[in-house]
Amino acid sequence: MKRSLSGIQPSGVLHIGNYFGAMKQFVDLQNSYDGFYFIADYHSLTSLTKAETLKENTYNIVLDYLAIGLDPNKSTIFLQSNVPEHTELTWLLSNITPVGLLERGHSYKDKIAKGIPANTGLLTYPVLMAADILIYDSDIVPVGKDQKQHLEMTRDIAMKFNQQYGVEFFKLPEPLILDDSAIVPGTDGQKMSKSYNNTINMFATKKKLKEQVMSIVTDSTPLEEPKNPDNNIAKIYALFNNIDKQNELKDKFLAGNFGYGHAKTELLNSILEYFGRAREKREELEKNIDYVKDVLNEGSKKARAIAIEKIKKAKEIVGLIGNI
Ligand code: ATP
Ligand code: MG
Repeated sequence: MKRSLSGIQPSGVLHIGNYFGAMKQFVDLQNSYDGFYFIADYHSLTSLTKAETLKENTYNIVLDYLAIGLDPNKSTIFLQSNVPEHTELTWLLSNITPVGLLERGHSYKDKIAKGIPANTGLLTYPVLMAADILIYDSDIVPVGKDQKQHLEMTRDIAMKFNQQYGVEFFKLPEPLILDDSAIVPGTDGQKMSKSYNNTINMFATKKKLKEQVMSIVTDSTPLEEPKNPDNNIAKIYALFNNIDKQNELKDKFLAGNFGYGHAKTELLNSILEYFGRAREKREELEKNIDYVKDVLNEGSKKARAIAIEKIKKAKEIVGLIGNI
């Protein structure tokens, strides 16, 4: 079975961009791929400095994974920092990664522009990501479009390593990016991101979820006039509804006498309906946090066993003789 691997940072509360861009594929692929899905807690240190928040977010992501239907009997769910070999491999890969490649990173530049301090971890984020992927010989990586460049960097780094040491050691992974959910817009119309304060969180309380949906930015076309049917609300609505429903909404916008407020209410109902079962399941799981911890520990042991074998071989290849 081919292997699928992906991770999500516990840098905040998960949102519908994470879901449609990545997590939904984790579940959809779990019968056809050997899935490895982790919580990228090392990565989140590049932008998150509150220890308590990090801990809380980490458990929340495991709950989210399980609630949307990831099955620990089919997929390996694990914590990045439980497999320190990821950081060990990062060091090996750092020495073949040009600084210029990292400085051209879109995500790095975007985050700095948004005021996140330009620490070394943020710059070398893609090298750790390359290690995450390469250490498991992953075949595909389901991600949103914002990660496309990082995947290209992973392939570049893998090729450079193989070439430099004259081995076919790292497998070149393919990104899996779906056209319809490649970049889910946030409430402000930019890419929805945990760190941009523009999210719609599928597991928020109903009150909070309503506030988020109502905060979607629209223009000031008066109620009675026709509206541009390709607005932000319609784009998000399309993720939850089939083509007939999408066209119905577009017609209503074009006809006029249909306000953005009404459209937002329809969107809110779609979100609540779509995630109804997952929201219930999550409430159940919250009562059994020991089970959640077990899932994470078991998954981490399984992942680590594979990573240890790969790092041993990587060390041999580069000439490091320490192997106790
Ligand atoms: P941060 O703001 O801390 O970077 P994030 O919301 O961008 O958080 P990540 O943990 O960086 O989330 O990404 C997890 C996964 O979700 C990745 O596969 C990423 O491509 C995907 N993703 C994130 N935001 C979106 C989005 N708006 N649309 C589609 N996919 C997304
Ligand atoms: Mg991100």
